[in-house]
Amino acid sequence: MAERRKLIAGNWKMNGLREDGIALAGGIAAKAMGQDLACDVVVCPPTTLLAKIDRAFEASTVALGGQDCHAAEKGAHTGDISAEMLHDAGCRYVIVGHSERRTDHGEDSATVKAKAVAAHRAGLTAIICVGETGEQRDAGQTLDVIAQQVVASLPPNADGANTVIAYEPVWAIGSGRTPTLDEIGAVHGHIRKTLAQACGTAADRMRVLYGGSVKGANAAEILAVEAVDGALVGGASLKADDFWQIVTAAS
Ligand code: PEP
Repeated sequence: MAERRKLIAGNWKMNGLREDGIALAGGIAAKAMGQDLACDVVVCPPTTLLAKIDRAFEASTVALGGQDCHAAEKGAHTGDISAEMLHDAGCRYVIVGHSERRTDHGEDSATVKAKAVAAHRAGLTAIICVGETGEQRDAGQTLDVIAQQVVASLPPNADGANTVIAYEPVWAIGSGRTPTLDEIGAVHGHIRKTLAQACGTAADRMRVLYGGSVKGANAAEILAVEAVDGALVGGASLKADDFWQIVTAAS
C-alpha cells in the first residue's frame, strides 16, 4: 500500500483582519518552528492576508494556500483571483469546490474541475472538496453523490503531487456534528476506489482528507480511520493552540 504523508489544512474562511491574522499566523509559526513534523501543514487565510503573513511562515514548514481561484489566468473578472496570482503570492495549495462556494456561488463540479486545472497550470496543488448534504445522506445517496462529485471535479493528470481530495459532509461543516468513524471510513474507502478507477495508480499517493467539525478532542480518532490522510479544518484553525492540537494528533 502506498505511504501517504498526512496533511492538515486550515481554512480561515472570511475571518481575520490584519492584526488578528498576523497574530494567528505568528502563533502557528511559533509552534512549527524547529519541529520535525511527521505531517504537512497548510494555512489558507483570506487573500488580503497572504502578503502580510507569508513572512511568518518563511522559516517554517507551514505552507500557504488560497481558498478559491478563478479558472482563467487573467482578464476581465472583477473581484476574482487567479491561481497564478496565488502562486505569485507564495501559495502552494488552493482549495477549490468548498461547499460554501458550491452553495453561495452556484459552483458545480465542472466549474470546480476548471479551477483545479487552473491550479495545476499555475503549479499549485488543488484541494478539491466534495460532500453530501444532510438530505442526501438521509436519502441513502451519500456514496453515489460523492463518487459523482469526485469524478466530475477531477482534472486530467491528477496525481498525488498535484491533487488532494477533501471529503466534507456539508451538514458537518461548522455544526459540531460529525459522521461516525465507520461512516467516515466507508466514504473514504469509496473515494479511494473511485480514484483508483478514475486515475489508476496515479491515485495511490493522492491524499483524501476529512473535514467537518474536526477539533483537538476528535482529531486523533478521525485521523486514525483507515484511508483518512489528514484533515481540512475550519473553525478550529482560527486559534493556534486548537489548530496545533490537530497537527500534533497527525504527527
Ligand atoms: C470547512 O469549512 O472546511 C470546515 C471543515 O469547517 P469546520 O471545521 O468549522 O467544520
